[in-house]
Formats: sequence, C-alpha cells, structure tokens
Amino acid sequence: MKFSKSGISTTKNTPNDAEIISHKLMIRSGMIKKLASGIYTWMPLGLKVLKKIENIIRTEMNNVNALEILMPAIQPSELWEESGRWDKYGPELLRLTDRHEREFCFGPTHEEIITDIARKDIKSYKQLPLIYYQIQTKFRDEMRPRFGVMRAREFLMKDAYSFHENEKCLNKTYEIMFQAYKNCFDKIGFEYKVVNADNGQIGGSESHEFHVIADNGEDELIFSDSSDYAINAELFSDPPKEGDICPDGSGKVKIKRGIEVGHIFKLGNNYSHSMNATVLNKNNENIKMIMGCYGIGVSRIAAAAIEQSNDENGIVWPASISPYKITLISIGYTKNNVIKKYTNDLYESLIKNGVEVLLDDRDISPGKMFSDSDLIGIPFKIIIGNKFIEDNILEFKDRKYNKTISISEEKNNKKLSNNSIKTLLNLLNK
Ligand code: ATP
Ligand code: MG
Repeated sequence: MKFSKSGISTTKNTPNDAEIISHKLMIRSGMIKKLASGIYTWMPLGLKVLKKIENIIRTEMNNVNALEILMPAIQPSELWEESGRWDKYGPELLRLTDRHEREFCFGPTHEEIITDIARKDIKSYKQLPLIYYQIQTKFRDEMRPRFGVMRAREFLMKDAYSFHENEKCLNKTYEIMFQAYKNCFDKIGFEYKVVNADNGQIGGSESHEFHVIADNGEDELIFSDSSDYAINAELFSDPPKEGDICPDGSGKVKIKRGIEVGHIFKLGNNYSHSMNATVLNKNNENIKMIMGCYGIGVSRIAAAAIEQSNDENGIVWPASISPYKITLISIGYTKNNVIKKYTNDLYESLIKNGVEVLLDDRDISPGKMFSDSDLIGIPFKIIIGNKFIEDNILEFKDRKYNKTISISEEKNNKKLSNNSIKTLLNLLNK
C-alpha cells in the first residue's frame, strides 16, 4: 500500500474526552472516528487491525469445530420475555418499537436467540455437543461510555454458545474453549491473566475472565505469587491487599489491574429451562439442554493491545495484529529517479513475497515519515536514506527496541539484489 492512497490521516490533536493513552493514540493515528458518545467508525487503518483480531479468533473457533453463524442484531421482545430478561436487564438494553408498535431490542448478547434456534434445530442427543459462534455488533447503553472503543456502546463481540446433554459434556467443551481462548491471546502476544469471575447479568455456575494486564485496566485482579489462584476483586466485599496471605493459603497476594477481553460461563439449564429447549436422550426422554457461553471483546482487544504496548512516540503493535508489517521510508523518492526505481522494485518484491508493506510515497520531510510510522505503530522500517545515496546501504529498523541492521548492495550498484531481499525476508521471518 502506498501511504498517499492508504486513507491514513494522522493528527496531533486529541479530543477532551480521550483520558487514556490507547484512546488518544487511536484517534491520533486515525484508526477510529467518533460519531456519537460510545459510537465509533473504524477507518481503514483501524479496520485492518480489527480484521486481524477477528481472523485469529475465527481460526481458533473453527479449530474446535465451532460453527459460524450470523444472528440478527435486532431481537424481538417476546424471546426476552420468555427468558425473563426483558424486565430484568434495565436501561443498558436499547429498546426499539417498530411501526406496528412491536417491541424489539438491539442485542447486547444473544442467549435468547441462540436458545430459540437450538430448540428448533436440535432434536436428539446425537446432535450434541454443538457450538455456534458469531462475530457481530452488539449494543449496550452503557451508563458511562469511555476510553473510546474500550467501553463503547456499539462494539464488536465474538460470542459463542454450546449445547450439551449433560454437565459432564459441558465441562469438556468448557475446557476446550478455555484452551482456545488461551491460544487466541497467546497468538496475539498479550500478557494476560485468567481469573475466576462473577456471572453478572447472564447467570450460571462457573465462569472465568481473561484480562490483559494494563495499569489503566478497570478491574482489580487478585492472584497468588505461588499458585494458580486468581480472582476478580469484585467477588469480595472486602478484598485482600497486596502482600496478605492468599485466600487459598498458598502464598502472598499480588495485585494487578486488567482489561477484560474475554469471559466464559457455564450457563447450565438457565435458558433451556425458561425457554423450554429440550432434546431426546438415549432413553427417549425429553431433557433440558445444558449450555455454555463464551464472549470475546473483539474491538476492545485493539484498545487493550495499545494500552499494554506503547511508548512516547506512539503505538507499538504486536506483529500479529499490526495493520502493516513494515514501512518503507525512501528519502528522495519524489525527487530522484534512481532511488524511486530502487524503492519501487523493493516494494513490489516485498509484496510478491507476502509482506504487508506501507510505502511512504509522500513529498514530506523524513522526520514526519518517521514520526507517522512510529505513531501508527508499524513494527519495522526499511530506510532508503543518505547511507543508500552515499554507500548503497539500506537500514532495517526495529520499532520496539530501536535496533538498526545495515544491508549493503554491491559497490556502485543501486540495483536491488536477491541477497538483500533474502536478508530482509529472513529478518521478517518470511
Ligand atoms: P464489562 O465488565 O467490561 O462491562 P461485561 O462483563 O459486561 O463487560 P460480557 O457480557 O462478559 O461483558 O461480554 C463479553 C466481552 O465483551 C467482554 O469480556 C468484553 O471484552 C466485551 N465488552 C463488554 N462490554 C463492552 C463494551 N461496552 N465495549 C467494548 N467491549 C465490551
Ligand atoms: Mg464479563
């Protein structure tokens, strides 16, 4: 992609409502634009990140044979009345009335819809277990939308729902999903913690949250320095303090702040009971299905990644979700034909080898090219600068550690060699 055609527009200004660094950097890099409180547009640069996150999650869900579907965002009130949540959910539920005075809501989650599908489609225990998932826009009329897409009103979630004949089968799938969630967050490259959690509005027995460790996280996580014990502090009325004996007796309490990016629940028969979702078991008896549900905040992950990884110059993307892998900064590109030809050859050849490259083809100062590349967080740069003009030397620079590696073309030859391409691809792990 050439910068001039990329739709990226960076800015120095941040709005007053941007309190935390991820929100500021998402606005400054032009990833998102605010439309209304808690409602954002994803611009081309931001959408590339969102799609990468989606793909990592989709791959892991497909790997455990979860079936992708897409349910409507607008849901009729009748199903919510059946489950008993139409009255319970409160003002976070955005309610709508159509021209025939029928009541609907914009889905904050989809248990009712999926349970309705399951009770119609699943007749026999032989079809179980079954996992459905979707990646879809949710709406929650949050009391205090803030931190940009971190706590938005409209946001993207991956939600999955599993159906079982009994608790034992649910437990098995829960373990599998637990591992799939870990795979997602490992692949992204997060530092994260899994904690025991509250069941909230959704209800059920066991549940775990996945938290990205970050100082600005809204949740306090309590964990042991010497066992797997980890729990969300909101489960205590009087939470233990750093250094106290751990509630499981295993060692000392440690405390960190986290951003909740995933939440899995054992729902049991909550919804199948109220909505009468039954199947026939081996003995031809009607039994209520047992359910699990599994959410990931797809759009929140983008903000959480920035919150965990940034510096004074901007975003430092983990390569797994970076919008581009490398920026090509070519000083004199617009003025010197030899340099232009060399740069274009390099650009084409990187693309041919599957490298996502952003060529800064703008007629602007090198300083601005460097600062934009750092602001939008691209992990690597190739610099075709003075060293190239004088000595045919390219520089390969790492965003995170600021390390530079020099690559030389042959003496007096400003032609791209196979050797330099090979070296670059090696450095990029291609
Ligand atoms: P929170 O405690 O942060 O309000 P929640 O527990 O209400 O979240 P869940 O119902 O568990 O959220 O939803 C699944 C996932 O969706 C969450 O783990 C989170 O990553 C994401 N999510 C929830 N609310 C929002 C929001 N307002 N904006 C962005 N992502 C959200
Ligand atoms: Mg939650």
